[in-house]
Amino acid sequence: MRRSTASHEIQVSGIPIEIVRKDIKNLHPSVMPPNGRVRVSVPKHLNDDRVRAAVVTKLDWIRKRQRVMEAQPRQTQREMVEGESHYFMGKRYRLEVVERYGKHKIELKTGAKLQLFVSPDTTAANRRLVLNEWYREQLKAQIPLLLIKWEAIVKRHANDWGVKKMKTRWGSCNITQKRVWLNLELAKKPPECLEYVLVHELVHLHERYHNDRFKQLMTKFLPNWESSRKLLNQGPLGHDDWDC
Ligand SMILES: [Zn+2]
Repeated sequence: MRRSTASHEIQVSGIPIEIVRKDIKNLHPSVMPPNGRVRVSVPKHLNDDRVRAAVVTKLDWIRKRQRVMEAQPRQTQREMVEGESHYFMGKRYRLEVVERYGKHKIELKTGAKLQLFVSPDTTAANRRLVLNEWYREQLKAQIPLLLIKWEAIVKRHANDWGVKKMKTRWGSCNITQKRVWLNLELAKKPPECLEYVLVHELVHLHERYHNDRFKQLMTKFLPNWESSRKLLNQGPLGHDDWDC
């Protein structure tokens, strides 16, 4: 979950490079899944020109990593057909498609069934849309209560919040506007993951950086945050390098 102003971007030989200044001794480049976005963690005292010079010497390595990532198989696109597995709040459901005319909707049934009601001629893309909108509604229905609970514990208030699709982060926090965004994909993860991301973003309203103070606050408010983070980063969508 990204701080709004702690990083910025430069271009080196046409490759966008995100620079993050940290309390570290050495420059550390990483090529991040799933798209090969490049991020370089750099010591605070190193200016952009010196970062650029250092990145130039690592371009071969960066390009190689990006090619490897491009060649990796992607999570297959769901066809939204009968029998497929779909996840909701960490549980696996079997998709049942009910074709009939009327309002498109989703219903959870006993026996871990997720029923999708659609018109007979609905495309896979449209079916995905119905499911995503349902995920969004479910997530949005849970957040207000979680916020009441955690704002009281963390003693910080978010002025605004929202849910959106994000490719490389689980959440983000605009510290000045006190606005929290949560990744739509959290609807698929166990409930403690949503809670962890929400607490993490609220803690940014105390501390901008992921430093020791930040970790101490996390441990104070949510002692098992590390196991929730681990859980979050398991599975095809998660990755340890993701902002969190
Ligand atoms: Zn964060």
